[in-house]
Amino acid sequence: MPSSYLNFRFRFLNENGKRVSIILQNGRADGENGLRLTEYAIPIEDILHVHRHMNQLAIILKPYLALPKSLLQYVLPETSALLIEVADDFAFNVKSALDQHLSRLHVANARAKWEAEGKGKLFRTISCPTCEALIDTTAIFSDYIYCRYCTTIFNQYQQILPKSEQYNICPRCNYYGRLQLYPEVKFFWLPNEKAFSFAENYICDTCAGRTYQATIWKNALYLVGLPFSWYLKYMISKEQDPVLAEMATANRLAQDGDMIEADVLYSTMLLRNERHPGLLYNYGLAWLQNNEPKKAFTYLSRTIELCYNYEPAREILEMYKDMLVVK
Ligand SMILES: [Zn+2]
Ligand SMILES: [Zn+2]
Repeated sequence: MPSSYLNFRFRFLNENGKRVSIILQNGRADGENGLRLTEYAIPIEDILHVHRHMNQLAIILKPYLALPKSLLQYVLPETSALLIEVADDFAFNVKSALDQHLSRLHVANARAKWEAEGKGKLFRTISCPTCEALIDTTAIFSDYIYCRYCTTIFNQYQQILPKSEQYNICPRCNYYGRLQLYPEVKFFWLPNEKAFSFAENYICDTCAGRTYQATIWKNALYLVGLPFSWYLKYMISKEQDPVLAEMATANRLAQDGDMIEADVLYSTMLLRNERHPGLLYNYGLAWLQNNEPKKAFTYLSRTIELCYNYEPAREILEMYKDMLVVK
């Protein structure tokens, strides 16, 4: 049981992601006090989840906690969440430290349940090779295990699914794909449409390709936006996992309803690796979006067989269970 601790510096953010104060404040994550933000300690059992986006952490607390007033002022309106920006590129480490303690708490609770039933000897755990969170694997006999804390997929020997560090579920389209930070620049001036905007989005190659096509000709008319469109194209074409070479195109075709073409590309990738949870997940999702629930169920079930606790596939199976099982 590691008693890891981490000191870090941070700023509170408001609901728009803007800094609340200029001065950096001190924080600490450890096994005894949980999370300390300035002088206030939040016990680890009062934390539900920690989400990370780049250097920002959203700390979701149990609702209705009696927090000191001076901390309460930073809780985002109508939520039980604190949003902080971690300095010195430490956000991943802070989240991992908190997840290590959180996961050990969850594991201890699960172990107690098994022991209460006299089955303590069956209880098994594995440590995530990426974030070192502890995962309960008592009921997991599949080849792969999913870390719900950092979304890494790894095998029973703690080897990470090759190249999967760059791949994840896209927050925009929900498909498994390579995620990158893409600039989205619109700079054009057409008779009926005026736009200048700049945004950075952490999205998949398929979604980035869609943005590129939607803005390239308009940006071309007003040359300022053009280099960004080219940059976008360059990012999309950057080296990717060769096993999943057709993924961005296949996902695009499936999302646009061309399942005949998409089917060919998914099958081609499956020939290279028929035991890839992310690929099987996409194939299932693609069939679901194209009104083939039976096929969707087949591939999503196969995903679960390969990676028993893969939450993205489980969530879809749960959400569409009436449709997927009855038909
Ligand atoms: Zn992990
Ligand atoms: Zn996407």
